[in-house]
Amino acid sequence: MDFDLGPELRMVQQTVRTFVDRELIPVEMQSDVGDAITPERYAEFHRKVREMGLWQFDVPERFGGGGLGLLERCIIQEEIGRTKALPFRHNELFGPTGGAVLYHCQGEQVERFLLPVLRGEQKVCFAQTEPEGGADPAGMRTTAVRDGDDYVINGTKRFITGAARAHFAQVIALTDPEKRAHGGISCIIVPMHTPGVKLVRADHTMMGDEPWEIHFDNVRVPVANRIGEEGAGFRLAQEWLTVNRIKIHGAYPVGIARRALEMAMEYAKVRKTFGQPLSQRQVIQFMLADSAMEIEAARLLVLSTAWQFDQGQDVRDRSYMVKIVCTEMASRVVDRAIQIHGGVGLTTDLPLEYWYRQLRSIRITEGATEVLRWRLARSLLTASPGSDRPAD
Ligand SMILES: Cc1cc2nc3c(=O)[nH]c(=O)nc-3n(C[C@H](O)[C@H](O)[C@H](O)COP(=O)(O)OP(=O)(O)OC[C@H]3O[C@@H](n4cnc5c(N)ncnc54)[C@H](O)[C@@H]3O)c2cc1C
Repeated sequence: MDFDLGPELRMVQQTVRTFVDRELIPVEMQSDVGDAITPERYAEFHRKVREMGLWQFDVPERFGGGGLGLLERCIIQEEIGRTKALPFRHNELFGPTGGAVLYHCQGEQVERFLLPVLRGEQKVCFAQTEPEGGADPAGMRTTAVRDGDDYVINGTKRFITGAARAHFAQVIALTDPEKRAHGGISCIIVPMHTPGVKLVRADHTMMGDEPWEIHFDNVRVPVANRIGEEGAGFRLAQEWLTVNRIKIHGAYPVGIARRALEMAMEYAKVRKTFGQPLSQRQVIQFMLADSAMEIEAARLLVLSTAWQFDQGQDVRDRSYMVKIVCTEMASRVVDRAIQIHGGVGLTTDLPLEYWYRQLRSIRITEGATEVLRWRLARSLLTASPGSDRPAD
């Protein structure tokens, strides 16, 4: 087994690391970056990303993107995690991506839905969560009922990121309420201007995100707006979530934790209390050592899982492990870094408090860690001889 990334991957890693160190970290605390990034800043960053040859590296080659494997995408994502200069959710540093299920568009759907998003002309949101159906899709109530060549959609979605600026929503709805997650859920594109679509209210969160509640009241869209087969919507959404758990909830927190540890080490060396630098105190050294060990273990889990995915292996169970291990690890590492910085760590002069809040959120969003632990345990138990793995 070879753990060396190889010359090409190391070059990509070094290129992005240098970009983050030289271009992003120096501006990360300015008011027009991070979650408030301005179009002018994006334009400036986009020009540099194009120069690096990494424009749309996350987009499949057949749609004009770089088509990188998941391992390469994780390497890049980890480096990007080291700065607060980009929005935590939906960062478009490397150009627009299709996200979610849009890469499953077929025929004329590609031109109608996917390409306008990849060209940056249109925005899209992903609408699955409901008041009665968050972690548990069995609680989903939104229905899409066939009426001739149309679906008529009724229901409520909540916590939908980017709904107010989206041109269309990828709505996950019941097309066969009897079957639910076992083949009864479909994904349907709904333009936000369609009669009956109503943005009801935004929730204000501790991370600064303002996801929306959307009502669908007899919303009529053509059957041709369905992505994939009828009943395939839940599976398509799960496929996307599996990749996200590895890349966004795995590699990204590893990058955050690495930077938090770097900051903690630098500060511990210069901050003196009771006549000694903090770095001389064994209790502080143990915090640093624990963080370094935990980061390394989590990082190897991410990279090996991404590699297995690229080899075509089923990594669903490992993706649960990745998300749990990395989000909990990064939460601990950032917490220790704040502790070492004392009062300074609590201020908004440093990115630590921001990461603390963001990391707290991803232990809930896109799959709470309890649910993932339960899924993993169920899979382990049912994989034992004589048991069948139940469908999710
Ligand atoms: C900022 C933000 C952005 C979001 N963006 C989107 C979006 O763009 N699109 C979208 O569709 N959704 C989005 N969501 C929704 C998010 O994915 C859900 O909040 C999440 O899946 C949890 O669902 P819930 O809030 O209904 O919690 P619930 O399902 O009510 O669960 C509550 C808690 O119960 C526990 N729990 C649940 N089930 C079990 C179990 N089986 N065993 C043990 N414990 C359990 C967990 O601790 C869980 O945190 C967003 C949410 C937020 C806050």
